[in-house]
Amino acid sequence: MTASPPGLPRPVADPMTAGPPGAADPAASRRSGRLPSIDPDRCTGCGWCVASCEPHLLSLETVRWKKSAVLDEPQRCTGCSDCAVKCPFRAITMRRPATAGPPG
Ligand code: SF4
Ligand code: SF4
Repeated sequence: MTASPPGLPRPVADPMTAGPPGAADPAASRRSGRLPSIDPDRCTGCGWCVASCEPHLLSLETVRWKKSAVLDEPQRCTGCSDCAVKCPFRAITMRRPATAGPPG
């Protein structure tokens, strides 16, 4: 058993840094608030963005015989922009996600 030195207060969890109880998303605090938006018309399916994403959140999907990058787990995206920077075809734009679906 470890005891605190006499005269010193016992260390306690700092409520300012400990985070709210039940916070389940570890990426939430690191997130910039922006997510990659991939333009399927510009995307060639080259895969550079897939390779650049450290948490492996992007993959290639074939739609109508054409490969295109897709973001599989937006809730884990840190918003680091690595994928957008690496895309040689400028097919990725970092955007704030819409809070509601598209109109109409
Ligand atoms: S790097 Fe750009 S062009 Fe290549 S797969 Fe990703 S989004 Fe598409
Ligand atoms: S912004 Fe970063 S974490 Fe998010 S998909 Fe792109 S490379 Fe991955």
